[in-house]
Amino acid sequence: MTVEKRNPIPVSEAIHRIVSQNIKTEPMHVNIYESEGYILAENIIATYDIPRFNKSPYDGFAIRSQDTKGASGDHRVEFQVIDHIGAGSVSDKTLGPNEAVRIMTGAAIPEGADAVVMLEQTSETKQGFTIRKTFDHLENIALKGEETSTGDTVLKKGQYVNAGTVAVLATFGYVDVPVYRKPSVAIIATGSELLDIDEPLEPGKIRNSNGPMIQALCRKEGLEVSVYKIQKDDFDSSLDVVKDAMKQHDMIITTGGVSVGDFDYLPDIYRTLDAEVLFNKVAMRPGSVTTVAVVKDQYLFGLSGNPSACYSGFELFVKPALYHMMGAEKYYPAMVRATLMEDFKKPNPFTRFIRADVHLTGRELTVVPSGFNKSGAVVSIAHSNGMIILPGGTRGFSKGHQVNVLLTATESLQRELYL
Ligand code: AMP
Ligand code: MG
Repeated sequence: MTVEKRNPIPVSEAIHRIVSQNIKTEPMHVNIYESEGYILAENIIATYDIPRFNKSPYDGFAIRSQDTKGASGDHRVEFQVIDHIGAGSVSDKTLGPNEAVRIMTGAAIPEGADAVVMLEQTSETKQGFTIRKTFDHLENIALKGEETSTGDTVLKKGQYVNAGTVAVLATFGYVDVPVYRKPSVAIIATGSELLDIDEPLEPGKIRNSNGPMIQALCRKEGLEVSVYKIQKDDFDSSLDVVKDAMKQHDMIITTGGVSVGDFDYLPDIYRTLDAEVLFNKVAMRPGSVTTVAVVKDQYLFGLSGNPSACYSGFELFVKPALYHMMGAEKYYPAMVRATLMEDFKKPNPFTRFIRADVHLTGRELTVVPSGFNKSGAVVSIAHSNGMIILPGGTRGFSKGHQVNVLLTATESLQRELYL
């Protein structure tokens, strides 16, 4: 038996091949309260000016600036209050000389007024109040259209919907938001050594940690996921399950069985499905056997069974595919430069990804490996919020070197109060 010859390609080329596929989900609408985490499927155009009318940014009094001429500490100018309005109300009065309208934050500026005096700048009198300074035309007024004019593109197709996006959509009255459907994902862990979480341990067996881990990674992206039964290293039953999953999901993620061992059946499964294998060897460690294949408009991700490799494979390959499918403008992993705080003496014949703990200390990013870091490691994944990337063809790195770091779990970035 000859071992299949595989051609390693650079990581960037692998990602490029994935996002060059024309596999997209279709546009749909979701309720605004469900829209966070989706990608916008249309540009959103301002249908009116923001602010919609000249309004008061303060609690105070709307006045005519011309009436403040000559005001000073020795020469306080007096105003008479002719009306009183809160936010949401409009005064039907027009201001005459030395008249003022009591006004609250957000209320429309009354006719004739062109400035707002803050409450703190006044002293009360029987009829109204006095002030000791002059005011300019339009002083303390939030002007109609100062933020956005009618016709402006306020949100862009391909933009990630976050809280700020939601606020803008609400402003323009979008109950239903045009977004791209999120891909539905099937997760199939393969390996005859795998036990379910609730099964007692047996000699030679291990618990399936990749399945739940990938499910959690998908959940974090708000995806609909089905976790299939663990598959033994058996060609026929594994093929059946993959076929079944393909009937119901946009993306099939398998873990394990992509190497060239006697019981690695995923390559045979891709062949049988007539899948186009985009690559089956990447010049990286861990996870060099990661395989990505495509059948029509479906992705098949064959992640390595080694937990660290599996995790890296999701961050490097699955996530860009997911966001590309959803029409996102930004789908590459987030990378930063950080200072390595420990020596890393191993040479790097291939690009190396090391699960790492990134510290955001004040203005500087520093990074250390997050623990025991062989490809089979699990615990170091839990303590990582990024991955150090050491380029292939380099020797060891020393403390103090600048390295590239891919950010993964930014919610667990070390923080300091730095205000
Ligand atoms: P494989 O990719 O099938 O060659 O598996 C590589 C290594 O990862 C082996 O040591 C497996 O036992 C281990 N492994 C495979 N699948 C899983 C899984 N779902 N959870 C944890 N470890 C796994
Ligand atoms: Mg296996």
